Amino acid sequence: MKIIDHEFVEFIPEHEDMEDGVIYISLDYDTAVHNCVCGCDQQVVTPLSPTDWKLTYNGESVSLYPSIGNWEFDCKSHYWVKEGEVIWAERWSEQRVHSGREADQKTKSHHFEQKNDENREKLFHKFKTFLVTLFKEQN
Ligand SMILES: [Zn+2]
Repeated sequence: MKIIDHEFVEFIPEHEDMEDGVIYISLDYDTAVHNCVCGCDQQVVTPLSPTDWKLTYNGESVSLYPSIGNWEFDCKSHYWVKEGEVIWAERWSEQRVHSGREADQKTKSHHFEQKNDENREKLFHKFKTFLVTLFKEQN
């Protein structure tokens, strides 16, 4: 189980000053920031508001709600922070979205390929007729 520590700060530190495995919480700025727990060194900013994230502090450790889904990063990591522990979440739904998108694209490109084949056949047929007419006229 990966442990995630927390630090209450006035100002969110610069990215290079941030340690991995620490959530920096600024109540003045209603923001929590941490480095992605996968180790990719991306900075994850979680604004704290009724419509963003909610931070719970039990006197020892913090929890964030809802889960953190880093879809915009290459790592695409998705996890919960619960009482100072990182709990990896399913990537199922994201993969479903992705494979759904791929399937859609395949159907579309297949559709266009078929259309192209039809057009090519039509063109070839036209050309053949044209050659035949030309041949006939010359004789
Ligand atoms: Zn990451």
